Parts: sequence; structure tokens; C-alpha cells
Amino acid sequence: MRNKEKFIVILKPDGFRRKLIGKIINRFEEKGFDILDIKTETLSVKILEEHYVHLKEKVFFQDIVDYMTSGPVVIIAMEGLNGIEAARMLAGSTNSAQADPGSIRGTWALTIDENVIHVSDSVENGEHEYIRFF
Ligand code: GDP
Repeated sequence: MRNKEKFIVILKPDGFRRKLIGKIINRFEEKGFDILDIKTETLSVKILEEHYVHLKEKVFFQDIVDYMTSGPVVIIAMEGLNGIEAARMLAGSTNSAQADPGSIRGTWALTIDENVIHVSDSVENGEHEYIRFF
């Protein structure tokens, strides 16, 4: 079925620091996604507490907040056919060590914590994240 979906990509502080912005956006553009909106900013603790509410009780929650506030990020709203599934595959598994070698995490990361990129994981979350970040 041909189904256009909107989703949010966040190029995390490690990706920003390592000057991967162009390379990563290029991967999404080459795949065929359209960029709807793009901006750079340093995320607040407040917005991260909302965004990662499903991880709030984890022992590593503070580590995520420290990492995600450690520098600027690039936030991109994208759209594409079967967008979420295709974009999550392009990102690779959360644990970069297990990510497909052709994926973004598989190419540029080795660990579960500093994994370069966020991609919305459902249509519903894509819509919520669009409102949250734009
Ligand atoms: P995602 O949708 O693939 O990003 O996965 P999750 O929603 O489960 O996790 C959100 C983010 O939390 C991940 O992308 C990692 O940056 C971070 N994270 C997940 N698991 C761990 C962990 O065990 N330790 C640490 N320090 N960070 C983690």
C-alpha cells in the first residue's frame, strides 16, 4: 500500500559534533524522503522529559538527558511513503553494535547510548513529535 507518513528525525549532539549533518540528511534524501521543516537548537530538559517519558523510570534516564543536552541538535520533519518503517530501518537498531552495517547507526556508532540519531517510532508518535518540536 502507498501511504505517506510524517515523522521527526533528530540528529543527536554526537552526530552534530562529528560533522555528520550533511551525510545523514543525504541518506534520507537519497532514500526519497521530503524535508518539510528543519532547525537547529539545544534541547531543554523539559522537552526531553516529555519526549523520553517512556524511559523516565530507567536508571540511565539522567544519562540520556545529559547526553541530549550536551550540545545542539538538528531537528528535521520529514515525509515519505511508508515513512516510519523505512526511516527506522535506515536508522538501524537502537543498540548500534547490533545495527545493520548499512544503516546510519551501523555506519557511525558502536553503542546503545550515543547512537547519532532519533527517528519517530509510530505514526502517532510522529504526529505528537511534530507538534512538540515545531
Ligand atoms: P529508539 O527509539 O531506537 O531511540 O529507542 P528508545 O526509545 O528505546 O531509546 C531512546 C534513546 O535512549 C536511545 O536512542 C538511546 O540514545 C537511549 N538509550 C536507550 N537505551 C539505553 C541504555 O541502556 N543506556 C543509555 N545510556 N541510553 C540508552
